[in-house]
Amino acid sequence: MRPEDVLLPTAAGLFCPPGNFHIDPTHPVDRALITHGHADHARAGHGSVLATSETLSIMGARYGDNFAGTTQAAQLGRPIKIGGAEVAFHPAGHVLGSAQIAVSAKGLKIVASGDYKRRHDPTCRAFEPIPCEVFISEATFALPVFRHPEPAVEIQKLLTSLAQFPERAHLVGAYSLGKAQRVIKMLRNAGWERTIYLHGSMEKLCRLYEAAGIGLGRLAPATLASSAQDDFAGAVIVCPPSQIAERWARRFPDPVACFASGWMGIRQRAKQANVELPLILSDHADWDELTTTIVEINPDEVWVTHGREEALVHWCGLRGTAGRPLHMVGYEEEAE
Ligand SMILES: [Zn+2]
Repeated sequence: MRPEDVLLPTAAGLFCPPGNFHIDPTHPVDRALITHGHADHARAGHGSVLATSETLSIMGARYGDNFAGTTQAAQLGRPIKIGGAEVAFHPAGHVLGSAQIAVSAKGLKIVASGDYKRRHDPTCRAFEPIPCEVFISEATFALPVFRHPEPAVEIQKLLTSLAQFPERAHLVGAYSLGKAQRVIKMLRNAGWERTIYLHGSMEKLCRLYEAAGIGLGRLAPATLASSAQDDFAGAVIVCPPSQIAERWARRFPDPVACFASGWMGIRQRAKQANVELPLILSDHADWDELTTTIVEINPDEVWVTHGREEALVHWCGLRGTAGRPLHMVGYEEEAE
């Protein structure tokens, strides 16, 4: 019995022969199981989609209600039989609705974790380690140099800057699914009660988070029509990272360009993006989170998907666990 008989890496993504389905397929397929709503994992055009109800809502918000032929909501921890396989979704701690997918067949369990992190995130359920024979891990930050600081410390940096420069607008570049809402929720939890302004592209997903029970406090569109320029002095404005150094940003008073991303740990990236205040806030596991997760689960084999596969595979070899790079294409490191 080989693990490849249960889950097989293919050009369209991981394929389960006994269940006849793909996980996070990169091309349209008959039956897709989807770990989370980021665009490189959740694509439109599949015959059927099985995902958590939150992920289905996110896909509906992004692609319209007809993003798949049929949909089915998976309940966390509840096994579902598909052909000759049994699957179960478990929280991944990555973004709202994100799940690991455990696939069992022929006495073997493989967990495809999608993207995950172990740090606290008040906008989604925490990662749960699931015992398995094969653990499939991402490797976005799989180098020992990547050690993310505590999230609360990074949010405090933003609050300190806001106190120090009350006349300047603080533009926080954050990806629209997950990071934006996490930054807003963490600011709220740290006591920031003022209205937070949103770039137009953020509004839909923020509303979706609120509908899912993640309260984000007072939000308003970041349009000059609705507010005088003075209103933005000392305000937090959340926008896509691509906007922080663009024309759009110049309407705000002396803006401080902030960018919330795991990549901000690399000084050169912050410089290239003209970021004045880098916030190292990642929705992906860093080196310590990746390795402690593997130690904790202690699988027979680790398969490594997109990112820096070689270092993690090498580390697995040193501890006597078989490691295998999958070299999967179609998953972007920037979706972070
Ligand atoms: Zn993701």
